[in-house]
Amino acid sequence: MIRTGAEYRESLKSMKPNIYMGGEILGRENLPGTEILELTCELAHNKELQHLTTAKSHLTGETINRFCHIHQSEEDLLAKQEMTRVAARMVGGCIARCMGIDAMNALSVITYQCDQVHGTEYHQRWLEYLKYWQANDIVGCCAQSDVKGHRKRRPHEQTDPDLYLRVIEKKKDGIVVRGAKAHNSFAPLAHEIIAIPTRFLTPEEGPWAVAFAVPGDWPGVKLVCRGARYRDRVQEVASPLSGKGEIESLTIFDDVFVPWERVFLCGETEFGGQLALLFALYHRHSYTGCKPAMSDVIMGTTALVAEYNGIEREPHVRHNLAELISVAELVYGCGIAAAVKSSKAPSGTQIPDVVFCNVARKHAGVNLYHEYDILAEVAGGLPATLPYSEEFASPEVGELVKKYLARKDGVSPENIYKCFAWISDFSCSSMAGVMQYAGVHGGGSPIMEDIAILGTYNIEEKKQIAKFLAGIED
Ligand SMILES: Cc1cc2nc3c(=O)[nH]c(=O)nc-3n(C[C@H](O)[C@H](O)[C@H](O)COP(=O)(O)OP(=O)(O)OC[C@H]3O[C@@H](n4cnc5c(N)ncnc54)[C@H](O)[C@@H]3O)c2cc1C
Repeated sequence: MIRTGAEYRESLKSMKPNIYMGGEILGRENLPGTEILELTCELAHNKELQHLTTAKSHLTGETINRFCHIHQSEEDLLAKQEMTRVAARMVGGCIARCMGIDAMNALSVITYQCDQVHGTEYHQRWLEYLKYWQANDIVGCCAQSDVKGHRKRRPHEQTDPDLYLRVIEKKKDGIVVRGAKAHNSFAPLAHEIIAIPTRFLTPEEGPWAVAFAVPGDWPGVKLVCRGARYRDRVQEVASPLSGKGEIESLTIFDDVFVPWERVFLCGETEFGGQLALLFALYHRHSYTGCKPAMSDVIMGTTALVAEYNGIEREPHVRHNLAELISVAELVYGCGIAAAVKSSKAPSGTQIPDVVFCNVARKHAGVNLYHEYDILAEVAGGLPATLPYSEEFASPEVGELVKKYLARKDGVSPENIYKCFAWISDFSCSSMAGVMQYAGVHGGGSPIMEDIAILGTYNIEEKKQIAKFLAGIED
């Protein structure tokens, strides 16, 4: 089954209200961000994009939405990366559906490896779950980030052990978990929440080595949410994104029962850490698609506003555009390299190269505010002070607003307004603030990329080069 956008929206209606936002308990109708996930369904029906947005299930041979696919080859990784870039351009930011499938790919590898070492049955369970996922075109999210309490203390050292999600009881038919996951993007719009560990775990941290999936409205799951929307505009200057938004949740597991068939790790601490790392790796590979898309958006917007401002041939504008192109294509190129240099896990899943993924994510993160800086520099201050669209259309002051917005001859006041309103939305709004923080911390704080790079890279080999060139023999 490949859902249409309308079918996805319809499917949310039957989910129970467990969303706590702005003093209300809400269901899932009209939440900010719904349109983005609808688009991920629609794109799988778009004939021109189906070569990217669909895949053949390795389990059933059926054609499925690529957001439900376990990568089997280098080509799969390349297609996912390109799909992400194409889709993220259409929504001007996060495409919202990679977290869930990145977690599923990591689980495909780790459940298999854990079974080889511990004689567990996680992989078969997970395969059954994957069948359900693919047959129903499930929209999933990943809850990795524990709230973590005192950052320098390990899970078992916290004053309150619930600050990392943990198993509090094992029963014949399942487990009971308690804890919370912060920053859970689009969780209220997901059919399923996949929870996995956040960090390496020591042998005494068995209760925290847990991975499972539950429906988003499962008993005891409470989604404490916060969302942002672009400002609505009057019809005269509306854009495809007016009024649209995104949503995050503090996902609380308030003594939640999880049946064994949905438990994919329970106590095998060494695999808890590996699962955390592998999800981050797949997610950073996803970033090699969405971050270049963000740069594409900034680049195109910078070029447009430079033209409207009449400064498109100025040397500083040309230099800035070259900077933006360099960031976008280096990150994208590293993603391609990560796919080309990928390897096959014993489970059959394709794993992107660690160094190329992390170098890409690091480069994207380091440059994020620089890219916004470029846009602000070329746009001028108007995005911060632009009159609201109601005043643009006002019978009393509308004509005056239009007169004083004028820039390059021949560009209509409507187009000038739309251009600056978009820059205001994209770089100077509550949505923009969320995207900027996500650009820094999403997929792990910057230091995590350094740790992954240094943990994998062969610095010793480079030292040998230096010794050879210096003539040192020891
Ligand atoms: C908008 C947004 C959406 C996100 N969506 C998701 C999602 O859908 N799913 C998901 O699982 N995660 C998501 N993330 C979470 C993201 O992966 C985390 O924000 C990231 O891992 C950082 O964790 P933190 O926010 O708790 O920051 P912290 O870990 O508190 O980082 C703050 C600072 O403390 C430092 N620090 C932390 N621990 C230590 C330590 N032990 N020793 C020394 N320094 C330390 C960090 O390096 C950093 O400089 C999202 C984040 C954002 C901002």
